[in-house]
Amino acid sequence: MTAPTIAIIGGGPCGLTLARLLECKGIDYVVYERDESENSNRAGGSLDIHPETGQHALREGGLFDEFKRYARYDDTVFTLADNFGKRLVKVGQGRDAPEIDRSDLRKILLDSIPKDKIKWGHTLTSATVGEDNLPVLQFANGNLLSGFKLVVGADGAWSKVRNVITQATPQYSGTSYLESKIGLENPLYETIASNAGAGMFLSMGPEKLIVTQRQGDGSYRNYFGLQVPEDFFRNGTVDLQDVEATRRLLLSDYYADWSDEHKDLIRHATDLRPWALYTLSTEDLGWKSVPGFTLIGDAAHLAIPNGEGVNLAMTDSFKLASKIAEHGIENFDQAVQEYEADMFPRGIATIADGKGMGEVMFSGDSKAFLELMGL
Ligand SMILES: Cc1cc2nc3c(=O)[nH]c(=O)nc-3n(C[C@H](O)[C@H](O)[C@H](O)COP(=O)(O)OP(=O)(O)OC[C@H]3O[C@@H](n4cnc5c(N)ncnc54)[C@H](O)[C@@H]3O)c2cc1C
Repeated sequence: MTAPTIAIIGGGPCGLTLARLLECKGIDYVVYERDESENSNRAGGSLDIHPETGQHALREGGLFDEFKRYARYDDTVFTLADNFGKRLVKVGQGRDAPEIDRSDLRKILLDSIPKDKIKWGHTLTSATVGEDNLPVLQFANGNLLSGFKLVVGADGAWSKVRNVITQATPQYSGTSYLESKIGLENPLYETIASNAGAGMFLSMGPEKLIVTQRQGDGSYRNYFGLQVPEDFFRNGTVDLQDVEATRRLLLSDYYADWSDEHKDLIRHATDLRPWALYTLSTEDLGWKSVPGFTLIGDAAHLAIPNGEGVNLAMTDSFKLASKIAEHGIENFDQAVQEYEADMFPRGIATIADGKGMGEVMFSGDSKAFLELMGL
């Protein structure tokens, strides 16, 4: 059997956007995704999709009308408070950056490509160059596949494709989020809905923060931002299975001087999940193109979350698909070189921006944060 021309590793937002754009252009591809099925990963919160980047890619893929069925234009509001609960600013009404749940975005993209183009349960363990100078892919399920002309790493922060191209490794940022949920059935629900309302509610205190974000089903996700060691959630300091103990630890050691409104978010927190935040360095970008391989999205330019990650990832997909169409499948090297030359400055800027924003957000200096945001 002949291998598909392009292998996309990772069926996240950028891998699937690339798949859709190649589908529209009639270019042969296949997506290999580590999840066992489309229903096996419910992770991830709400994402705001920007006009010139994420929305543009969806328009190019003919998916904008479908996107609008899920897009929440009333959730563009942003409220900033201090750790005493004092509201400092409320902006963003009517902003053209509607929110969509990650699972809804994935569904739109998955429904737009033939089912046999995505191979579930394929965790890439290594990518190498074979004797014929073409890529060879080893998967955890034992499959060893070759014959592709181009392998695109869309496999996120811990990309296995990245290793063929560069030695760059993500570094811990010094900060972690503990994600939690307040569902509609939670006794705190009515209170949080009335206090936090639509969109995103960010509370900043010295060295800590809380992000409260309304989701598509009306529930809320809270992210407790902490400056803790990289292995904090794994080294036994905190056992997330013991929800009560985790709540007590947060209340006594981290948020003791915060308002009761904030403490209630901890007292009622459920579904705890850690996110240690990692970033590549600006020096990591600028590699010499490796024939047969390239990277898009977080695999290329992982940054501390700054509200742009998914938008830039989808922009990469759009730019790469355009270059492939322009140069044709016989001239992948040229397409990849031009795509990467265009992507590097974009990636460097977002890594620097994420670092700067992370520092200001954890400083507790709300004035500096508002200045950074141009508010
Ligand atoms: C806590 C947090 C909050 C965030 N909030 C926002 C936000 O509000 N707005 C925003 O724009 N961005 C946000 N981001 C960043 C955003 O999530 C990423 O930039 C975006 O998801 C990147 O998309 P991607 O497709 O490149 O990678 P991913 O979303 O990471 O997708 C990678 C895909 O590859 C698959 N995969 C991974 N390894 C392998 C493998 N070895 N083999 C096969 N498949 C593999 C994964 O299962 C996944 O499906 C946030 C990130 C975090 C951590």
